[in-house]
Amino acid sequence: MYHINREAVEAEIVREPGAKQATHRKLIDTKHGADRFVLTEFEIEPGGSTPPHHHDWEHEIYVLKGSMTLVTPGEETSLRVTEGDVVFIPRNEPHGFVTSHQQRCRFIVVAPAERPPVRSVFLSSDPYEYTKSAEYQEALGGSHADE
Ligand SMILES: [Zn+2]
Repeated sequence: MYHINREAVEAEIVREPGAKQATHRKLIDTKHGADRFVLTEFEIEPGGSTPPHHHDWEHEIYVLKGSMTLVTPGEETSLRVTEGDVVFIPRNEPHGFVTSHQQRCRFIVVAPAERPPVRSVFLSSDPYEYTKSAEYQEALGGSHADE
């Protein structure tokens, strides 16, 4: 198990072309053993942005604090999001985040780890067991219980 408080995770400057006043904290990352999902907290200060971009994986976003505008360059639309809002951005949908000079925003992004998928590993070699209960048989009407 890995446990940490956000305060103990270094806020790194987002160094992508077009990023302004944006930092992120890699709360759970592949270096902690995450194989499928990484959890990143972003913080965009007033007058900031993360550059519009797209990729072949989705984002799941949860706004913790403040507000910002979510822009979708292809469709020329924008959406103001605020504390408690959640947004799903499907794969390949262009997106960017912008704050006005009066806004700041802290939000969580869940994204896939760029690793091959892993399968479930079960810590028992016993076969599965399942016995239909009397309630279950009765719910089925009794007559079909012994098929
Ligand atoms: Zn993205």
